[in-house]
Amino acid sequence: MALPPLGSVMTHDAIIIGGGPGGASTAIGLARAGLRVALVERSEFPRRKVCGEFMSAASRPVLEALGVVEEWDAAAGPEIGRLALFTGERVVTAPMPVSAGRGRGLGRDVLDDLLVAQARRCGVEIMQPCRATGFERDAGGHHVTLATSQGTAALAAPILVAAHGSWERGPLFTQAPKMHAPSDLLGFKAHFHGGTLAADLMPLLSFPGGYGGMVRVDGGRLSLSCCIRRDTLEALRRPGDTAGAALQAHLVRSCRGIREALGGAVLDGPWLAAGPIRPALRPCYAEGIYRVGNLAGEAHPVIAEGISMAIQSGWLLSRVLSEIDVHDARARDAAGARYQAAWRRQFSTRIRAANAFANLAMRPDRFAALGRVIAAMPATLTLGARLSGKVKPLG
Ligand SMILES: Cc1cc2nc3c(=O)[nH]c(=O)nc-3n(C[C@H](O)[C@H](O)[C@H](O)COP(=O)(O)OP(=O)(O)OC[C@H]3O[C@@H](n4cnc5c(N)ncnc54)[C@H](O)[C@@H]3O)c2cc1C
Repeated sequence: MALPPLGSVMTHDAIIIGGGPGGASTAIGLARAGLRVALVERSEFPRRKVCGEFMSAASRPVLEALGVVEEWDAAAGPEIGRLALFTGERVVTAPMPVSAGRGRGLGRDVLDDLLVAQARRCGVEIMQPCRATGFERDAGGHHVTLATSQGTAALAAPILVAAHGSWERGPLFTQAPKMHAPSDLLGFKAHFHGGTLAADLMPLLSFPGGYGGMVRVDGGRLSLSCCIRRDTLEALRRPGDTAGAALQAHLVRSCRGIREALGGAVLDGPWLAAGPIRPALRPCYAEGIYRVGNLAGEAHPVIAEGISMAIQSGWLLSRVLSEIDVHDARARDAAGARYQAAWRRQFSTRIRAANAFANLAMRPDRFAALGRVIAAMPATLTLGARLSGKVKPLG
């Protein structure tokens, strides 16, 4: 990768920081609109990532527009036709609502790689592994400082898109400040081989101090992900225990459905941790910087919609920006306002619904009553999935 020297001017029309689903989708959309795009990604791909890895079929039209739907179809795990609730000794199943087909799981090691490869084919300049360490703004646009194993460099463009997710701390002002509270929610994920989880079933897990989900992804792998309060996890850990081992023992002990689904399963790689997570509605455009994916707004992962929201928001932003002269500062501001309004119409409801579900799911004592209602009327689980955006395509 040849790096431009520090201080160079307007190297591109758009710079995107972060090569997850939000950043890669924006990059593809902008490159297809004819812009010169640079995508900066810190990690080498393929890499595993904390995520439940389920994507609802409502994102299928966007995958088609991005030109990756055939690859996704070929790679993703089985179609998910049923939802379930696993809480304590209770196991309830219900049909998954159907939109443009059925949702499926695909490991983030495969999905993110696939999207960045498509961005490259569309002409995006991929800078990877390469970390954005700072940005400054002047009348012409943004200057971004980069760090790689070869040294430092800089890019400049009128459009800057922050797509670096919301969980990592760092020097960028779009990154969250350090925080540490007993109520922090930490994200965890592991892959397993084997186990007895039915191929078409996606259970929502509710256990003391947290919530999670399971799904079969590509190659028959079972993906188990969850969020747990920091204080609950600390109380579970005995000297010498890894966080993952303590968490897995807690899940198996407190939830029959998990115990049965993991019967005979073998851990494939280590438990991964991330966070604390930061569910919230955030500005989609501020200080001249557009935000996509988690950075624009984040739903509690209990609804498994973050990848869809990232991909859809990236595509939405690229559509808005493709209609303007990117060198016109006023047009950029107006586009930011239009993008934020469209983003809120599309995603606000599910962020609020996810807050309510997550607060319930982390309290199995309160959840027990809801569990009884769901057991009597499994359709309420299907309704919850509708509220979470599972059948809402990008408008
Ligand atoms: C436990 C858990 C389970 C989940 N399960 C699901 C699920 O089943 N389905 C679902 O849809 N969503 C799920 N989510 C949410 C989903 O993982 C996120 O919403 C999604 O990853 C957001 O995508 P993004 O592109 O915004 O950010 P990310 O996927 O976080 O990508 C950001 C990228 O930016 C890079 N980066 C960071 N800093 C820099 C820098 N300074 N310079 C360059 N690059 C940088 C990172 O390396 C990363 O690749 C889950 C989340 C958690 C915590």
